[in-house]
Amino acid sequence: MDLFEMQDFDGHEQVVFGFGAASGLRAIIAIHSTALGPAAGGCRMWPYATLSDAVADALRLSRGMSYKNAMAELPFGGGKAVIIGDSREKSRQHMEAFGRLVDSLGGRYITAEDVGTTMGDMEQVACVTPFVSGLPREMAAGTGHTLHSGGDPGPKTALGVFLALKAAVRFRLGRASVEGLRIAVQGLGGVGYPLCRLLAAEGALLRVADSRAAAVQRVCQELGAQEVAAESILAEDVDVLAPCALGAVLNEHSIPALRAQIIAGAANNQLARHEDGEALMRAGILYAPDYVINAGGIISVAHEYQGGATAAQVRAEIEKIPARVTEIFERARRESRPTSAIADELARERLASASHRKVA
Ligand code: NAD
Repeated sequence: MDLFEMQDFDGHEQVVFGFGAASGLRAIIAIHSTALGPAAGGCRMWPYATLSDAVADALRLSRGMSYKNAMAELPFGGGKAVIIGDSREKSRQHMEAFGRLVDSLGGRYITAEDVGTTMGDMEQVACVTPFVSGLPREMAAGTGHTLHSGGDPGPKTALGVFLALKAAVRFRLGRASVEGLRIAVQGLGGVGYPLCRLLAAEGALLRVADSRAAAVQRVCQELGAQEVAAESILAEDVDVLAPCALGAVLNEHSIPALRAQIIAGAANNQLARHEDGEALMRAGILYAPDYVINAGGIISVAHEYQGGATAAQVRAEIEKIPARVTEIFERARRESRPTSAIADELARERLASASHRKVA
């Protein structure tokens, strides 16, 4: 594995490998950019098949965080941690060893929960380092952070996605509400479930899929959603598709089968390749760039870390997401370019001008 030659290497500032002799921890922290501030991004735990897969994911996700934080106008750079292993087998020892690895970077990287890690895990990380966020409300308050802006980022992410989805509906369909629209949601976890609640409250007709039967049952029973097989949810005949499970779901195989007019969901890295943004545009599908619209959680986590913001202030920041994505839709239409390309360009411009200011 030649790190500097890897396809996902993008001038990352630092990549750190950590091993815990006692805990068995095997972790990687990738810092893509600190041009805008300390690198912030969650910690993913996943049973990667190879070390290269884990490194590639850390590189890709940390660049995504640079773009996400830049577009959310947060004073943070982009970083991400991955722990190699099955999240069902993690221990307190594991999380503390990870916390010490984070601490060794002296604040250049701030962690939080992500797929495979929980708020409880972050409490354990917080026992050994202050460079952690996404803590329970009481703990956030105890550490001097505001009582109002901590807690699970999932519902905040869902709020941002909901507002952006409505902006896409307004832009493409000229409708102010999702009432009566058919919306497919893939993944009913920390973000997908609260998103379904918001959509159902406004009268959307939900079609849902999750690989966990209990998650589907809850949404069908509570919100009157219709169950769809996990294999066919992406190709459902709906107005809007909201991918809220895994990355790379929009690819050369899935795109030709899509029937939604709009894609707006929370999953990170939905496009398998850059070219897939182009393919969506050619197919006449309006794609709301994932990292622009799923920033609600990081906005909350960032304010918790900085302290001092009220819940209303955090909400006001999240409410800026629909205007941001609408600007991208408008520019993409004017320039006949994919929304994903416009978003990447804007993010890179912000990073470049911050680096320039730093050097100057
Ligand atoms: P989660 O693990 O709580 O939920 C994901 C759900 O997807 C689970 O219920 C899982 O069973 C389901 N799933 C997995 N594979 C599936 C498949 N093939 N078909 C259908 N369902 C499947 O994760 P989450 O926190 O809800 O995050 C969802 C996505 O949003 C992830 O890609 C994550 O990186 C991204 N995201 C999350 C946040 C956040 O605040 N939690 C913020 C930004 C982005």
